[in-house]
Amino acid sequence: MNKRDYYEVLGVSKTASKEEIKKAYRKLSKQFHPDINKEADASEKFQEVKEAYEVLSDEQKRAQYDQFGHQDPNQGFGGGGFGGAEGFGFDDIFSTFFGGGTRRRDPNAPRKGDDLQYSMTIDFMDAVFGKETEVEIPKEENCDTCDGSGAKPGTKKKTCPYCEGTGQLNVTQDTPFGRMVNRRACQHCEGTGQIIEEKCTTCKGAGKVRKVKKIKVSIPAGVDDGQQLRVSGQGGPGYNGGPSGDLYVVFRVKPHKEFEREGDDIYLELGLTYPQAALGDEIEVPTVHGKVKLKIPAGTQSGARFRLKGKGVKNVHGYGIGDQHVIIRVKTPTKLSEKQRQLLREFAEISGDIPEEQESSLFDKIKRTIKGD
Ligand SMILES: [Zn+2]
Ligand SMILES: [Zn+2]
Repeated sequence: MNKRDYYEVLGVSKTASKEEIKKAYRKLSKQFHPDINKEADASEKFQEVKEAYEVLSDEQKRAQYDQFGHQDPNQGFGGGGFGGAEGFGFDDIFSTFFGGGTRRRDPNAPRKGDDLQYSMTIDFMDAVFGKETEVEIPKEENCDTCDGSGAKPGTKKKTCPYCEGTGQLNVTQDTPFGRMVNRRACQHCEGTGQIIEEKCTTCKGAGKVRKVKKIKVSIPAGVDDGQQLRVSGQGGPGYNGGPSGDLYVVFRVKPHKEFEREGDDIYLELGLTYPQAALGDEIEVPTVHGKVKLKIPAGTQSGARFRLKGKGVKNVHGYGIGDQHVIIRVKTPTKLSEKQRQLLREFAEISGDIPEEQESSLFDKIKRTIKGD
């Protein structure tokens, strides 16, 4: 392929200044950038422009080129090309391409900041009754020095030449289904549409600085594991003077050593002795609200459930209060004194539930072996 003259490629005169060359290059590289241009030969032209610029922007290479031309002996000014870039105004193509209707919102318009999410581990009881607390959250804040603009105080930003201030570029992709055009944030200005020429020294142009901020959080009474709370205005700083985002605190509730929670109800496993279960009793049961008296009727089976109405968790949205469920476990004694054993045997005899002699002695043997007596 015949190489075109580099000056012609860039559409500048042979006496063009460095600035003119740079300007022409920017314009054309944008025009033929494969991300923007969906013409079949865009990528080829983009390479051509790049190559021309690489030579002409370097004084030594330019001098060499001026003197010797292309290394390629087949140099020639193939075709009329698009000499005289003025008539071929890139700006026209650009605005047509983006089309008035599809133009996105102004990237420099005030926008709400990002929402942040923070996971907070809380005690079981704090979830049940709520608590005023404070969290320290590392988050971004607008830089005080530049007021969030990222530009050195007293300097100005300029419109991004790649996206013409829209902050968006179109990306063309060849897929098995055809050519797809997607829009994405302009990488040259990071979607802001503006380029900072002199960066603020405090935030290095980011406009934001990381700070650890103390934020008051009211744990709502009745909140459950995985539920979240919105703390208005405590998210990321707004863009271009917009309002701050919100902070979402997601609660992780630590398990309790006794209580188990399911929704607004609480479950408690309660151990009873065999006599308590058999004879009945009145006992004190722990609840999240303190101890409560519970009557155990005679003949209570293991696995029986009792409900303590209103002794659960207050609904976080104000819909009443849950209950506490007490689940009975009758404990079989494991360490018996001789007297206890004697009485149990007697009890068994009276009950008419006498084990067979052989089994009984075997049982005793095993017991003796285990106990070592
Ligand atoms: Zn841009
Ligand atoms: Zn700054």
